[in-house]
Amino acid sequence: MVNSTQHASSTSSNPSDLDMTLAYHLDLVISIVILTFALFTVPRAIARFANPSERFRGFLLRYVPLRHRSRINLNTDSVYLNSDPEKPVLDIDESSEGCNTTFKELPTLPMRTLRNDANGLPLGGQKPVHMPMLSSLVHPVTSILSRSVHEGYTVGQVLLLAGYTALVLYCGFYKSNPFSDPLRAGWIITSQIPFLYIFATKNNVIGALLGVGYEKLNYLHRLVGRLVVVGANVHALGFIYKWSLAGQLSKELAQPYIRWGLVGLVCVDLLGIGSTQFVRSKSYNLFIITHALGLFVFLFAVCYHRPGCVPYVTAACVFYGLDHLIRIAKTRITTATLRPIPELGLTRVEIPTLNSGWRAGQHVRLRVLSTGMGFLGLTEVHPFTIANVERTEEGMVLMCKKAGRWTTKMYELSATAKYGEQGREVGRGVRVMVEGPYGGVGNTVMSSYSGALFVVGGSGITFALSAIQELVRSQDNSSITTIDIVWSIPDVASLTPVIPLFTSLIEQSTFVRLRVSVFYTRASKGSFQGMYLPPGMTLVPGRPKTAKFLDDVVTSTQSGGGATGVFVGVCGPPALARDVAGVVRTFDVYRKRMVGGIELHAEVFGW
Ligand SMILES: Cc1cc2nc3c(=O)[nH]c(=O)nc-3n(C[C@H](O)[C@H](O)[C@H](O)COP(=O)(O)OP(=O)(O)OC[C@H]3O[C@@H](n4cnc5c(N)ncnc54)[C@H](O)[C@@H]3O)c2cc1C
Repeated sequence: MVNSTQHASSTSSNPSDLDMTLAYHLDLVISIVILTFALFTVPRAIARFANPSERFRGFLLRYVPLRHRSRINLNTDSVYLNSDPEKPVLDIDESSEGCNTTFKELPTLPMRTLRNDANGLPLGGQKPVHMPMLSSLVHPVTSILSRSVHEGYTVGQVLLLAGYTALVLYCGFYKSNPFSDPLRAGWIITSQIPFLYIFATKNNVIGALLGVGYEKLNYLHRLVGRLVVVGANVHALGFIYKWSLAGQLSKELAQPYIRWGLVGLVCVDLLGIGSTQFVRSKSYNLFIITHALGLFVFLFAVCYHRPGCVPYVTAACVFYGLDHLIRIAKTRITTATLRPIPELGLTRVEIPTLNSGWRAGQHVRLRVLSTGMGFLGLTEVHPFTIANVERTEEGMVLMCKKAGRWTTKMYELSATAKYGEQGREVGRGVRVMVEGPYGGVGNTVMSSYSGALFVVGGSGITFALSAIQELVRSQDNSSITTIDIVWSIPDVASLTPVIPLFTSLIEQSTFVRLRVSVFYTRASKGSFQGMYLPPGMTLVPGRPKTAKFLDDVVTSTQSGGGATGVFVGVCGPPALARDVAGVVRTFDVYRKRMVGGIELHAEVFGW
């Protein structure tokens, strides 16, 4: 088939050497730019892999027998147990009237000085190697590049998108006119096929080189996709126009290779329409279905349309196939327990058979294999950040907020939980397919910083929970001296189930000063009944002043002698991420330098 079309193609319009050379050189330039960026990340990658604790984590989920109980009690069973409104959160402190303690200005906890012995020599194990981000060293430039300009895009990202587009357009227009020479557009979009597919993969080779998760490169996939849609239409319409003028339209359209070209065009246009924000928000499934069908048929159609495209399609297939092989290796089918947590409006998913293999901040893709999810629900895979640290008895924990149809179905399924001997919920066991782990903080080693600030909104707390558990657990071998969590919730009731976990973490922070500040925007009457907050935890109405918290963390870090920087993690809606990025960017440059830099990591997802 390909051979016959090869003949047909050679008799129609001969690709000039220039078209093919430009397509090849375009790919070469893009690859060189990617490798140049990758070179800058090498020192951080070396620093990460130099830390034995970071070397093998974050690739494959597994079960490991726990030889001895974790020295730190990180068991979050209490989160579930205390979701029972009949049961008080903690022993009520009779001396504190109602919720008075919650509103008192809590004293700043004294800095722990246990890190040094009587001779001033450091206690504990070896500190992790710290390698600052390049961006924290070239402040004036990164301050401009990290400025948010449009829909969450930073100046740096906009420049990258503009540069990529300019490069593609340059190759499209160089010694060519798209109206009289539509073949050029065809070759240019062909050159983009490998990048289109690589940027779409979950096990992303470019992401691995740059030390970032696939989700952070998705904006480039969207750009390349749009360029391909425009290019394919210019290419097709140009030829249709030409053939119409020459009166050869029906003759040309009868040729098999032209028909395959039209099939490819329909696929590209379907993919383009299916990817619009309108379709994604109205029906994520339609977006997935058009993608799943379109991406396969498109590759076949392109090969039958022009055999010269085969090397580009092969490259795309290699990366895409490799991604799927790794996905299979990263997939586990197991049993999970679903428990509803009404106060947080979410389902807690516990998977005891997976207790190792992830790093704080990473997420998994979850499929619930239960008919209770409905036929469509069964086919859906949704991403969720792992909410706890690895190697605990409860295994992996996910907190999945009711956001739409699928998450609501899962919540309803969990609410049909069985009851144990004492009438206490034991949860609903379901088969699940867990794929991951993915994303996270890449080559960043959180424990190598001197201070950390987590600003999270709503269900974004999952990110902070896993990070803090990991930092508290590794405090003996960490440089961290101070951690602040700022959590914004709509309703005070959301706090109730998480208090025991925070209490436990604060109690066990021997070398680290851990503070938790919770802000709420809506107080329901009675929410504070019996609520006791441990020292180090505050509950305040209104919105947090992030700048003040960052200032506090930097001051505490400096006074504790820390000079390996402050890690700022933000997780929540785009507006929160923008806000925190602005605070980090405008922070006093001199103080930033003194503390060793302030580095931001943002995870953006729904509230
Ligand atoms: C990396 C990452 C980590 C996340 N971690 C958490 C977490 O720890 N806890 C939590 O409660 N939520 C988390 N989310 C959000 C969660 O994935 C969505 O709320 C959920 O998929 C919504 O599904 P739905 O069908 O119920 O809602 P819908 O109403 O169908 O969707 C609501 C919105 O969620 C997004 N969405 C829907 N399906 C998917 C999908 N399959 N993949 C990606 N986005 C989708 C779409 O933008 C959609 O507009 C995370 C999202 C991402 C991208």
